[in-house]
Amino acid sequence: MRRTSEGVRGTVSELKLPGPFFEFKDERDCAELLKNLQPEALIVFAHFAKFCRDNRIPCMVTNLFRRFPQSKSYTHPEGRAFDASIRGWTETNVQDCIAYMILEVNHLGAYSLGDRRQRVVVRHDVGLGDHLHFQVARRP
Ligand SMILES: [Zn+2]
Repeated sequence: MRRTSEGVRGTVSELKLPGPFFEFKDERDCAELLKNLQPEALIVFAHFAKFCRDNRIPCMVTNLFRRFPQSKSYTHPEGRAFDASIRGWTETNVQDCIAYMILEVNHLGAYSLGDRRQRVVVRHDVGLGDHLHFQVARRP
């Protein structure tokens, strides 16, 4: 790191950073997360990353914008959802995470197509393994 008249300069690799607090199955998704996810979904993501850090469990994003063919929902291509792996988690971690997310941010959740209930997180397996699907409501 160099101190110049304009301030402090340096590459990220020169810095001692506290994280990473989350990872991506496809690292290219990292920049896309910040640029293309709806702000409400970023708020939800921050709560999810905090839960993982506080519980010392993996925080792995597996999908942002891809919609699975069998899904009726467009939350992913609209930047209103992300999927996360629960690999390396205990069943208690999963249940605690769902409870935490409902407590903190369920008011941002999307309305389910079936029963019209607001849900910020859904645990499901749509063919690619058990995972958590996070989703936020469409904005006007
Ligand atoms: Zn999903």
